[in-house]
Amino acid sequence: MIIVLKPGATQAEIDHVIEKIQAAGCTPHLSRGVERTIIGAIGDEAALRLVPLEILPGVDQVMPIQKPYKMVAREFKPDPSVIGAGDVLFGGKRLHVIAGPCAVEGREMLLETARKVKAAGATALRGGAFKPRTSPYAFQGLEGEGLRYLAEAREATGLLVCTEIMDPRDLELVDRYADFIQVGARNMSNFRLLKELGTVRKPIILKRGLSATVKDLLLSAEYIVASGNPNVILCERGIRTFEDYTRNTLDIAAVPAIKTLSHLPIIVDPSHAAGRRDLIRPLSLAALAAGADGLLIEVHNNPEEASCDGPQSLRPEGFATLMEELRRLAAFLGREL
Ligand code: PEP
Ligand code: MN
Repeated sequence: MIIVLKPGATQAEIDHVIEKIQAAGCTPHLSRGVERTIIGAIGDEAALRLVPLEILPGVDQVMPIQKPYKMVAREFKPDPSVIGAGDVLFGGKRLHVIAGPCAVEGREMLLETARKVKAAGATALRGGAFKPRTSPYAFQGLEGEGLRYLAEAREATGLLVCTEIMDPRDLELVDRYADFIQVGARNMSNFRLLKELGTVRKPIILKRGLSATVKDLLLSAEYIVASGNPNVILCERGIRTFEDYTRNTLDIAAVPAIKTLSHLPIIVDPSHAAGRRDLIRPLSLAALAAGADGLLIEVHNNPEEASCDGPQSLRPEGFATLMEELRRLAAFLGREL
């Protein structure tokens, strides 16, 4: 339920509404917006309907949240959420690019790639330590050792680090090292994992599943938020279609659609969408033009030798050139990079 307050509602009136919501066994979430202040009430709607909220002083309107997801819905919080770590915040005027190899393959390659993406203007480093591979015989990641290299790269460059979690049993370990915890496309519907991620405060980058709708993605985000962690950044990374020229099909419309449906930030991963290096530039430009809050791009110091996703990884020089172009586009769009 959404309770819209009158523009001049006093603190005492707001507190009174909150008490009534709590007395009905529901949880209130106050959101002071630029235009208006609203209270979202989450819980048993039937119990709340018995409370005559609309006649309480300071209340303007009471309406149900029509969407299946509640806390991530725009109605619940009309102003965009700005989410991140340190000064790497997504959803505000400033755009951020997270760049780095698909997987952490070793110390030297990670440090070298990190220094180069930092010099080009990335603000966070990506790198998988736990890799979800289609084949059980493919490189599975360096796990704890990989996380330690990421921490070392953060020390050396000042870049924040983003890495994927695959199993709730690794949460304590990943939470210790990562600044951004990534949930990969294959785990978008791992609901046990999503609920566990509600127990930490770290920002979660939630990638859209291979055949998930925008609604499915928002419901997965709702799992994390409803479990206690409001810090979710959505990521469009392409979906499976009949098209096979590209690895996946970047659903560019999902970006403005999500901006309409939700207050959460949305970033785009052109690398897994395209599967090919030559398309990273146009897809990155399109993503920013469509309103994305940032990008997640694979960059490898030596893609020919990469243990995974080399063909879609930019070389550091290509990444630097792209960043120049993105900066110009950001300025045109009234944003900063
Ligand atoms: C990744 O970003 O490393 C990755 C595995 O991507 P996705 O989950 O989108 O396939
Ligand atoms: Mn990859």
